[in-house]
Amino acid sequence: MLADVTIVGGGPVGCMTAAAIGKGLSTVVLEEHDMIGVPEQCAGLIAPRVVDMVGARGAVLNSIDGVVLHFPDGMAMRLKGKEVKAYVVERRLFDETCLDRALSSGADYRVRERFDRFARKDGLVIVGTENGNEFGSRIAIGADGYRSSFGEAAGLPSANEMVKGVQVDLVVKADDMSSVEVWLGHDVAPGFFAWSIPCGDFTRIGLCVNEASSNPFGYLKRLLKNIGLEDAKRLASYSGAIPIGPASRTVDDNVLIVGDAAGHAKPLSGGGLFTGITAANIAGEVCRKAIERDDVSKRTLREYERRWRASFGSELKRGLMLRRAYTRMSDDTLSDVGHTLDTEKCRKALSEGDIDRPTAIAMNVLGAAPGLLRFSPNVIAAILKRGKVVGVEMP
Ligand SMILES: Cc1cc2nc3c(=O)[nH]c(=O)nc-3n(C[C@H](O)[C@H](O)[C@H](O)COP(=O)(O)OP(=O)(O)OC[C@H]3O[C@@H](n4cnc5c(N)ncnc54)[C@H](O)[C@@H]3O)c2cc1C
Repeated sequence: MLADVTIVGGGPVGCMTAAAIGKGLSTVVLEEHDMIGVPEQCAGLIAPRVVDMVGARGAVLNSIDGVVLHFPDGMAMRLKGKEVKAYVVERRLFDETCLDRALSSGADYRVRERFDRFARKDGLVIVGTENGNEFGSRIAIGADGYRSSFGEAAGLPSANEMVKGVQVDLVVKADDMSSVEVWLGHDVAPGFFAWSIPCGDFTRIGLCVNEASSNPFGYLKRLLKNIGLEDAKRLASYSGAIPIGPASRTVDDNVLIVGDAAGHAKPLSGGGLFTGITAANIAGEVCRKAIERDDVSKRTLREYERRWRASFGSELKRGLMLRRAYTRMSDDTLSDVGHTLDTEKCRKALSEGDIDRPTAIAMNVLGAAPGLLRFSPNVIAAILKRGKVVGVEMP
């Protein structure tokens, strides 16, 4: 089969890339599963702007305006924003809306097509699937998520690191329906954190751990026991992974990678929908222009890489630096950080944060708690030196 563009991976980012390419070009999306959004591998917490980018109001389960941060020594810090900071969405419905967007743009969405080989022939890219089918196109895009095999097959690098996640939906109604809870520290979730998200009639509790920790399920079991929910009825269990740290190169002649396949998730929170869909919009526009100009060389496609880096690349870099500082701290030091942050001025600065650019409040938080400098002076100096702490271009 011949098309202008083949997209490997029919998740939210693959579908939104197809939608951004738009009508008039032939786009094929290859998805290995029978349907979109299954298996579910996400906590579904996204800023209202991401719901609007997709037009997925129907997928919203709940609104969040606050967070309770639990530090390793038991100190709990409660932050409340002045407006809705995030929505909790049902990922299956969110993903279905992305699929509708792709189909309305004329994309051909093919299920049960698992990518397994890549070749180049006569200026085209040939993508092969396990069924023995071959799809030739001017441009092929890897949007195949955290297990991406497309990038490597096409000679592109992958993310630096992977964290492993597990999650359960429990038949428990949260006391505070508009706040998420977050537990920090190596003892609870080495290399990441744990969360509890109120979703109306049920509560979603999960955590991620670093690659060195062999058993995220063991940590989740212990957390549930510690908060008295080990016997709560389970509606669903999920597991997955999040690549952390963007690929050093995301384009080549005729190819590009996007979303989790390119390591676009935010290093501090693991959220990948805002950045992935922002990159999908850029990728779609750039591919369309490249095909219309009849130039699909890496020189032309590099516009995609330049634009996504200008949009959220600095935020990813600062997030990685802060993540490194966080993962190197002992639980005792982390508790000291918690006490340093626990002032009215600081809580106010933290409450003004935006989940899509968490490092943008770094200057204000530091101004409110200069004592933070003693914990990671090098990291803080590097972040401040980069200057544009608030300079993230938003869609
Ligand atoms: C536990 C957990 C919680 C998370 N919570 C949040 C959150 O609250 N907010 C947030 O923004 N992000 C969250 N994320 C991250 C978010 O889920 C991802 O960033 C997002 O799904 C990335 O979208 P994507 O389309 O790039 O990849 P995916 O959603 O993984 O989609 C990739 C698609 O490619 C398909 N595919 C894979 N390999 C092949 C192949 N060989 N051939 C054909 N198809 C293939 C897959 O079946 C899938 O449909 C979480 C992740 C985890 C693991």
